[in-house]
Amino acid sequence: MSNNCKDCGKEIIITDEGEITNGKQLKYLDGGKEILIFKCEECFNKSQELNNYKKTEVYSRCCGYYRPIQNFNKGIRRQYEERVEFREVDPTETPDEIEIIK
Ligand SMILES: [Zn+2]
Repeated sequence: MSNNCKDCGKEIIITDEGEITNGKQLKYLDGGKEILIFKCEECFNKSQELNNYKKTEVYSRCCGYYRPIQNFNKGIRRQYEERVEFREVDPTETPDEIEIIK
C-alpha cells in the first residue's frame, strides 16, 4: 500500500511510532471487504468520500433487456447517447416550466 493521498497524491508522513502527521487513514467497505485509504488533511477536509476507486458499471435497457452500456455495439451506443430523459409533467404546471433533464 502506498503512503500517498488517494485524491492528490501527496506523500503521507508516518512516524516510526505509526502516527500519521499530515492526514488520515480511512477505512471503507468494498463489497463487505475492508479497504484502507490515506487522505491528506486538506483532501480529508474537502471530502471524506471515496471517489474514483472503481469504474462503475452502468446498465440500461436495450431491446427489452438491461445490459451494461460498456457492452453495447456502436449503433446501440450511439442510440443510447442520443436518448433524452424527460420528467413526467405535472398537469398543473405551465408549459414553460417543463425542463429537459439531459
Ligand atoms: Zn490530498
